[in-house]
Amino acid sequence: MSIIVQKFGGTSVADSKKILAAARKAIRVKNEGNQVVMVVSAMGKNTDVLVDLAKEISDNPPAREMDMLLSTGEQVSVALMAMAIISLGHEAISLTGAQIGIITDSTHTKARIRSISTERIRKALDEGKVVIASGFQGIDESFNITTLGRGGSDTTAVALAAVLGAASCEIYTDVDGVYTTDPRIVPEARRVSRISYDEMLELATAGAGVMHNRSIEFAKNFSVPVHVRSSFSDNPGTMIVHDPEAPNTAVCGAAVIKDEARVTVLGVPDRPGTAVAVFSKIAAKNIAVDMIVQNVGLNGLADMSFTVDRDELPATLKAIEKAVKELGGEGYNYGDDVAKVSIVGLGMATQKGVAGTMFRSLAEKGINIQMITTSDIKISVLVDRQYAQDALRTVHEAFQLHKPPEEGLARAGALPSHVKTDAAELVRQLERVARLERMEKLIIDDVALDQTQSLVTFVELPDMPGLAAQTFDELAEAGILVDMIVQSIGRENRANISVTVPR
Ligand code: ASP
Ligand code: MG
Repeated sequence: MSIIVQKFGGTSVADSKKILAAARKAIRVKNEGNQVVMVVSAMGKNTDVLVDLAKEISDNPPAREMDMLLSTGEQVSVALMAMAIISLGHEAISLTGAQIGIITDSTHTKARIRSISTERIRKALDEGKVVIASGFQGIDESFNITTLGRGGSDTTAVALAAVLGAASCEIYTDVDGVYTTDPRIVPEARRVSRISYDEMLELATAGAGVMHNRSIEFAKNFSVPVHVRSSFSDNPGTMIVHDPEAPNTAVCGAAVIKDEARVTVLGVPDRPGTAVAVFSKIAAKNIAVDMIVQNVGLNGLADMSFTVDRDELPATLKAIEKAVKELGGEGYNYGDDVAKVSIVGLGMATQKGVAGTMFRSLAEKGINIQMITTSDIKISVLVDRQYAQDALRTVHEAFQLHKPPEEGLARAGALPSHVKTDAAELVRQLERVARLERMEKLIIDDVALDQTQSLVTFVELPDMPGLAAQTFDELAEAGILVDMIVQSIGRENRANISVTVPR
């Protein structure tokens, strides 16, 4: 018998009717001859309501008590779901994170899973019950209730699917799949039938709200096929798997994060240890840093820019003041009205002209790019917040993301080398599943040294719309495959752009 994990998000269990509808979905899959594990979130906006309540009591509620509070949301919905299934004539049992044996570390409000025991779930499944697991929660080694961070039920679902060796993990939500971008901002956005783990992970981190990004890491590490689909329709949804819809298209999606703030540390000594001095102070406050750009040092001094969540700006500035004093830097400045727009696609790792197309489209709309960073499969630009939506629409249009990939492109050609689908890799992943210990430990897969690149910096270019576009159009025309791209924040209306290219 196959095990199917079905996760229902808050909107999918927002009232009793919806709970009954979800229960029927589970029963249908069970009647098809499967064992079913449901993972359920708190009803509707219940978690937000609990967070607000806590804030009414205290500006700074203890994290342990927050977890105690927030975990109740899921406890309500699993109990109701079990009642629903039983009322429809089937057997069911609801379980809290602790009852399942989801052991986490003790980082309250953002705990990471260490291990999951499967005995109790398997026993209940073998007795013919639908198992209803509380999403988002676990316990630490001292039996304190922990939660996995907002949106964490996705991670519970994928983790359970991994340890149970489930045939698939279905994520039921209020949208009917993964789109090329947020359809609320860009109505032409297209649902993709399939997307790779790597692309989904980059998109989730770049602002696509569909899934908790940690759940994707998990799904990738344990090769869990994830099926995102709507609770309210029978549309086919999106599969998240190893290989993408069309490996040869450069861009599969675009995303925006609207509420970012930029901080620039000015004129710090360009020597080993400077970055540590700056970023260790921020890490000590548990603030996640997003884009990081260091400009190429001139006269032994460098500027360093980075972005953080806008809410974390005050705490970040405090940390930075300390660092600047210690380093003897010139000072710092910041902007709290910026947004980050990103494009993602496996194909861009091997194609020319992708950056140029993105930058050109923004230039044509007169949108200035303040910063640029890249990964192998992502290009991110920082723009004024007022242009966030326009920029997203523009790049979506520039790459024609509303159109399905051409027949020839879909499935044709070899996958880029970092997409691992070979048997040895699968065996390795299965072994990892077998070692349930330290499930969510960060795993570094690989370390690489590339000695074939050269660094080129264009210095003191006029900081205005079209600057990056022109630079990259010409590089693409000359047939040059650009790897890293970095634009740091400009000084006195001058900006530097650095690229790496084959030597
Ligand atoms: N109820 C939790 C939240 O809203 C977990 C989840 O829904 O995934 O963040
Ligand atoms: Mg969610």
